[in-house]
Amino acid sequence: MKRAVLRSDKKFYFVMLRIGLALLIAFLVCQFPFDYIESVFYDARVRLKPISKGSGNIALIAVDPPTIERLHRVPNAKDHIQMMRRLKSAEPKAVVYLINPNEIVGSYDELETLAELWQSQENFLVAVNETAVRGDDDAFRLLPPFEKLSSMSSPRTSDLKLFARDDVTRRMFISYQEQLSLYPVVAGIFNPEAKDENKIRGLFELLGSNQVYIDFRPSLTYLPTSFSLLLEEGSAAPKAFRDKIVIVGRDIQTTSKDYARTPFSRELISMTWLELHANMIDTLILNSAPIRSPRWLDLLVTCLISLLTVYVVSSLKPTRGLTLLALSLIGYFLVGFLLFWLGGIWIAMAQPFLAVFVSYYFFIPYRLIIENRKSWEYYQKNKLLTQVEELKTNFLSMMSHDLKTPIARIQGMTDVVLKDPNPLSSRQREALETLAKSSQELLEFVSSILNLGRIESKQLELHLQSRDPNSLLTEAIDKLEHLAASKNIKIICEFEPLFSVKMDVDLMRQVFSNLVENAIKYSPENTSILITSEENDGKVVLQVSDQGVGIDEDELAHVFNKFYRSKTAKTSPTKGSGLGLYLAKYFVELHSGTISIDSRPGVGSTFSVELPTAPIK
Ligand code: ADP
Repeated sequence: MKRAVLRSDKKFYFVMLRIGLALLIAFLVCQFPFDYIESVFYDARVRLKPISKGSGNIALIAVDPPTIERLHRVPNAKDHIQMMRRLKSAEPKAVVYLINPNEIVGSYDELETLAELWQSQENFLVAVNETAVRGDDDAFRLLPPFEKLSSMSSPRTSDLKLFARDDVTRRMFISYQEQLSLYPVVAGIFNPEAKDENKIRGLFELLGSNQVYIDFRPSLTYLPTSFSLLLEEGSAAPKAFRDKIVIVGRDIQTTSKDYARTPFSRELISMTWLELHANMIDTLILNSAPIRSPRWLDLLVTCLISLLTVYVVSSLKPTRGLTLLALSLIGYFLVGFLLFWLGGIWIAMAQPFLAVFVSYYFFIPYRLIIENRKSWEYYQKNKLLTQVEELKTNFLSMMSHDLKTPIARIQGMTDVVLKDPNPLSSRQREALETLAKSSQELLEFVSSILNLGRIESKQLELHLQSRDPNSLLTEAIDKLEHLAASKNIKIICEFEPLFSVKMDVDLMRQVFSNLVENAIKYSPENTSILITSEENDGKVVLQVSDQGVGIDEDELAHVFNKFYRSKTAKTSPTKGSGLGLYLAKYFVELHSGTISIDSRPGVGSTFSVELPTAPIK
């Protein structure tokens, strides 16, 4: 009782220790951000997410290779005037220039005309890849004649020094030192809430700025119109720009500044700066920025996953454990993906995944130690059992061996008295005959035990001789004739002439005797037994069929087991050791043969022995 309590105390202590270690691992893992791994999982979710439509409020104009081909140079002030006039006639809601006006070539007059044209356009904005501290109102002021144009901050926010450090753009500025950047202002034209930072989804603070993650759509979701198309004389103003936010930028691969790496691809020119702006502005128009899960939630999930891993490693079978772990990781990834796709929620993946690996590798040695100890205990138990088994076999064989001589002596003496010329009274004769029968049974039992001992100690050797199986069968029948006669059982023999077969005569004699004896033992009086022999397909087939009690179907598989006796046999007065068929099967198989049984309860049984005619090696 006390020991059981101690053991359960110990178990409780170990369980607590495991839980404690699992939580410690989770806690330690959560101390490190593993940003690069997290970014891989994040980007995978962005890429796998089905493409959703944009707001439809943004149109792009690109100075692209066809434009250069047509003009044989980059567009100059005159071209911009021409394009702007046409664009203006389409009445866009806003025009955002990603091209620095001060880089446009033209005469001062042309540039002034362009500046006036731009000023007369409603919501005209120049994007400046810069941030400015509060109060520095001149930071974005352009050089004359463009000094009156509104220019706004739209800085690069690639993860060059932060997060994954892979130069991929995932975030965008909303405001810096409480000054709104270009995106919320432009998006505010269609979604006035975009200008109110408290209403922007997924807003977070980073180094004095407020930012959000971009709700990305892959390249070419926003198809740009070529700048050159707007230069064509006489073509009507494209309706595609009516009431739209039109962004004008470059896509001529002359500078990496016009491109950005995105979660879709880490190539230097994965997406144009133009399209990136469309993505950013649409994120705010649709207010669909992804929200990153809070740290406490990440820690909780990591703890749970770590506990699961420790449970799996210390309690389940390795294959089942690994499958369960793999399934939970896949399941977790799927949940993460669905949350991102349907709810725009980004839950941490790196830490839970790493917690699995760390816990797994930390607890595997622990598991190995426990397994090792268990197998050592099994080994010791096994050793003990083998020793006990050996002792038992030795004892049995010694005992049976020593029993054989006194039994033989009893048999001899009984024989002498029975054959004595002096007449015996009928009671004396009866007593002597019972003595002879019992000693014969005892001898058979002792022989079976001896054979078993020989089998188990693997000391059995075959002494092969050529012998006609029919003659062996006849021998066995002759010896048991009187037993059959005592029950008025008729034995019918149908033997085909056979060639001699190489066999251990002693062992096969025991096999046949056992089958015939069983047929007599387990048959009622006044029945008959059919014994046949034939050659079939290079095999000698010997069959013993009786009209006896038969064997139940569920017991059939066991009759060849060591010491097995059927339920009916156990309750009937018929004696037996349950060793006969076990030995018979063993002996037949030593001859490369087979023994089988076909039986129906209440109808009878047929035992078949098949022996190969070819000599055994
Ligand atoms: P036993 O010494 O009990 O006969 P065996 O190994 O020879 O042991 O047989 C095992 C069991 O198989 C028997 O106890 C009996 O239940 C069943 N059995 C064997 N031969 C027959 C048969 N001819 N008819 C019915 N049952 C049989």
